[in-house]
Amino acid sequence: MKRIAVLTSGGDCSGMNAAIRAVVRSCLSNGIEVIGVQKGYLGLIRQHSERLTTKSVSGNLKAGGTFLQSARCLEMLEDSGRQLAVENLKKMGVEGLIVIGGDGSLRGARELQMRGIRVMTIPASIDNDIPFTDMSLGVDTALNNIIRAVDNLKDTASSHDRTFVVETMGRNCGYLALVAGIACGAEYALIPESSYDLNAICENLQRRFQEGRDNSIIMVAEGAGKAQDIAEQIKDRIGFETRIMVLGHYQRGGSPSSFDRLLAARFGVTAVEALLQGETGKMLGLSCGAIIQVDLEQVIHGGRRKIDETLFKLSATLGI
Ligand code: ADP
Repeated sequence: MKRIAVLTSGGDCSGMNAAIRAVVRSCLSNGIEVIGVQKGYLGLIRQHSERLTTKSVSGNLKAGGTFLQSARCLEMLEDSGRQLAVENLKKMGVEGLIVIGGDGSLRGARELQMRGIRVMTIPASIDNDIPFTDMSLGVDTALNNIIRAVDNLKDTASSHDRTFVVETMGRNCGYLALVAGIACGAEYALIPESSYDLNAICENLQRRFQEGRDNSIIMVAEGAGKAQDIAEQIKDRIGFETRIMVLGHYQRGGSPSSFDRLLAARFGVTAVEALLQGETGKMLGLSCGAIIQVDLEQVIHGGRRKIDETLFKLSATLGI
């Protein structure tokens, strides 16, 4: 193998730059040329790419986002677009492709593999809903971002007798809200995986208030409700001054945590090694501390990753 291409696709997250860096350094130390494709699959279709050197990745390990940029590319949903991407990769002399991205990006990689391209993929998505990996790239940094924001908010909540509803990302998966709720000592974590009773929550908030505990944090994953609606309902039902914080895209960015930097390094280097060993059509995953390889086909049909039951038990024991 003489030339490998790398791209980042779908929603950006912290650790993507560190993963690109690991791919580049690993390729170069194996005497392989690396091509960086810009803006995900769009760069493959439009032929926007550049040769990467150690200088290209110097100093950006600690930056969030992705210096290759990411984009949605509708052409990849059509057979003609997928075919064009394959032809362009062949024109570029690329013998292996590494895709760093979420669920949709993995599907795109599988389509290219079925058309004869050798691919390895790295799961990157802050929701932690990709199956067959304990953690996706970017999750840990996003959690640290949320924890920092909620810790700051708690200072204000306690100074003003306030209830805060904090909305995290997670349309279908409440991992971020639940784990941040545990890590921040929130009173509630409302997630799409379980139903909740706002009347019971309001009664409990009132009881807490009577006991002298006059401020509370309610985490809510976006798939379980809108912070604004929940705050209004609390105000209407029990008259509590309730404020909201919608964390939105703040969660994605920032310098990657040590966990994400190490994971990115392990994923990046393993992706290159796997291609060199003749592997293709695999997603890398983290399983009980080890880096594993899973067939993309299995990942794509594996549904969403479920939250570990022990986390539910833990939060229940802690009274969240
Ligand atoms: P993420 O990778 O974060 O889940 P998206 O779902 O938006 O983000 O997917 C990123 C890109 O992957 C899409 O813009 C598209 O180019 C490509 N993609 C998504 N689904 C498919 C598919 N079924 N076939 C081919 N390409 C796809």
